[in-house]
Order: sequence, then structure tokens, then C-alpha cells
Amino acid sequence: MTCECEKRVFNFSAGPAVLPVSALQEAQRDLVCYPGAGASIMELSHRGKVVDGIVKEAEARLRRLLNLGDDYHVLFLQGGATTQFSMIPMNFLGENGADYLEEGTWSKKAMTEARRVGKVVVPWSGKEGNYNRLPADSDYKVRPEASYFHVTSNETIHGVEFHREPEAYGVPMVCDASSDFLSRPMDAHKYALIYAGAQKNIGPAGVTVVILSDALYQKRIEDEKRPIMLDYKTHVENKSLYNTCPVFSIYMVGLVLKWLEEEIGGLEKIYQLNKKKAELLYSAIDNSNGFCAPHVSNHVDRSLMNVTWRLPSEELEKKFVQEAEALGMIGLKGHRSVGGLRASIYNAFPYEGVERLVEFMADFQRRHA
Ligand SMILES: *Cc1c(COP(=O)(O)O)cnc(C)c1O
Repeated sequence: MTCECEKRVFNFSAGPAVLPVSALQEAQRDLVCYPGAGASIMELSHRGKVVDGIVKEAEARLRRLLNLGDDYHVLFLQGGATTQFSMIPMNFLGENGADYLEEGTWSKKAMTEARRVGKVVVPWSGKEGNYNRLPADSDYKVRPEASYFHVTSNETIHGVEFHREPEAYGVPMVCDASSDFLSRPMDAHKYALIYAGAQKNIGPAGVTVVILSDALYQKRIEDEKRPIMLDYKTHVENKSLYNTCPVFSIYMVGLVLKWLEEEIGGLEKIYQLNKKKAELLYSAIDNSNGFCAPHVSNHVDRSLMNVTWRLPSEELEKKFVQEAEALGMIGLKGHRSVGGLRASIYNAFPYEGVERLVEFMADFQRRHA
């Protein structure tokens, strides 16, 4: 077997992001010839038995991981989380509008798309502090007449994350979980709809997982002008197979979920690992005597997935990224709207990579402080 694992770097990229090596190796083994099929998974019909089995198994794993019953539909769609920004209001936003928490760049993008469809009310915004914190439940109210209440469980760019299910005050809650999906136990039943682009935490780009409660689905607004691909009815009735589904991406998601269930041992286990990684990194930042300035100082709102901080100057930040890259650590440049540095340490990111980063941070500070 040709394996170049020894050449793999520590990949801190925000997405597409690091995947479990065992999932990549299994895909590599089966790439040319899927066992029993005599052809690559990429060459098989989405109407055939093999692909049907792969889609069903990925769905079954998701249902087990999140304890979902028959009252939830599980869909594998295309167009990224960004297409969900449009589909959700097109299907569910009624006369009274919807409430959106404004937590950062991604929730703002979701709001922009919803405003094309109808009224959006913002019960809380983190704009004042450049999105460096999240609200407590008592900091906002949701209008009882709102069609739904939209939250982003983890703001990938700013590095704030809900470590609880936010209070929805009885209104159906819709959650963009793209960047922390399956990183911790989640009470899925608190949500009417959860969506996540796969490429952050559960697979490659090309597929978006949507978990839709039947209760919300039943409230779907009929509109015969709505394009068929943007209607949840199409995908619910055809079990994600109305048109050619992204077969390879779903197959990879299946392998990552298998890793999560069988090698890691489920959501509580991955949560402990994720906490351990994030604690190591945040304590390095907090104990740097101010050399590293965290974007999110409020501990309860800090993301376990995307850790953001600044150095004393942009010049040093640039140098940091360059030196880290030379040492085999890529993807540490922060997003331009926050600046500085960002380390994305999703499920598949190894603890050793954080240890290496923290060592480098201390060394860099000795040389440049
Ligand atoms: C990356 C990201 C998106 C956009 O996902 P696409 O699949 O590229 O459309 C949306 N929301 C959050 C929270 C993200 O991190």
C-alpha cells in the first residue's frame, strides 16, 4: 500500500479541514474497486444497491449518534450550508417573519438571505464587540409569533460557540451547526432543524446534512413557483435521491461517522478529546503574559473548534504563520474580519498537533517578545 502519512502536516484549516487518517486510508483502499462492486464508488449508480446501502448506513449512524427517532428526517443535500440560508426562509418564513441571533459573519449571511424572503427580527447582536461573545438566555427574547428562531451553534470566524442548547422560548429552533456538528453531545430534540456543511467536521465538501423535524416540515409553506431543488418536500419524499446525490461525499461522511462511532466511541468521547485540545491551547494563550490576546475573553463562549487570537503586531502575526508553516503547521492565518491567528481543531485534529503548536508559541514568544 502506498501511504504518505509521514508527509502529512498538522492542518489547522477552517474548512475543508483535516479528516481522520483511517477514513482516508479506507477510501484509498476502496477507491478503484469498492468491495463486491467491481467498480469505484464514484462509478456506481445512485439508483443501485451499493450506493443505496451507503446512504442508508450514513443515515443510520447519524440517527444513532444523535438519538433521532422517526419524527426527524435526515437529508443529504448539495449547495453547502449557504444554500440552506435560502431554503430555510423560502420554505418556512411566514408573514410574521423569523428571529435571528446575530452572532458573527455566518449568522449575518443567513440573515441576509432570509431578508430576501421576508421579515427578520434580531433579538440580540454581538456586533458591538466584533462578535467576541454570545448572549445568555436572559439577554434576549424570541417573539412567540416568529416562524422560527435561527442560531449558529459555532461562529467559525470569530470563535464563539454555544456550549448549551440556546433557549428558544417555545419557537421552532433552527441551527447552523456547520462547524461544530457532532463535536459534542447535542440534544437534537430541542431543534426543529439542524444543518451542517460536511467539510468542517464530518467529511469533504459537497454534501450538507439537514436534520428536519417532521413537526416543522408539516408547517412548510406551499409555493408552486419555488424551484424543485429548493423545496424540502422534494428531498423528503425522495429520501435525498430526487436527482444524483453527491455519492462520493456521502460515502466519505459514512467513513468519518464510522470512525466516530467505532474508533472514538461516540459524542461524549470526542467531546472529552476536543475539550482537552482546546484547554491546552487556551491556557497557552491565557498564560502568555499578554503576548497572545484572545479574541474571545469570556471563557463560557469560547469555541472548542476555532481558537482565535492576536499577537502584538500584524508583522509578528505574518511571521508566526510563515514559521509555523515551515514547521509543518498550516492554516493558522485568521480570517480578515478578525485578523490575527486562528487554529481550527476539529474532531479529527490530533492532540499532538496542539502540543506542537503550543511548544512553537512559547518558542516564538521567547524570540520575539
Ligand atoms: C463554513 C460555514 C458555512 C458555509 O458553508 P458552505 O458549505 O461553504 O456553504 C456556514 N455556516 C458556518 C457556521 C460555517 O462555518
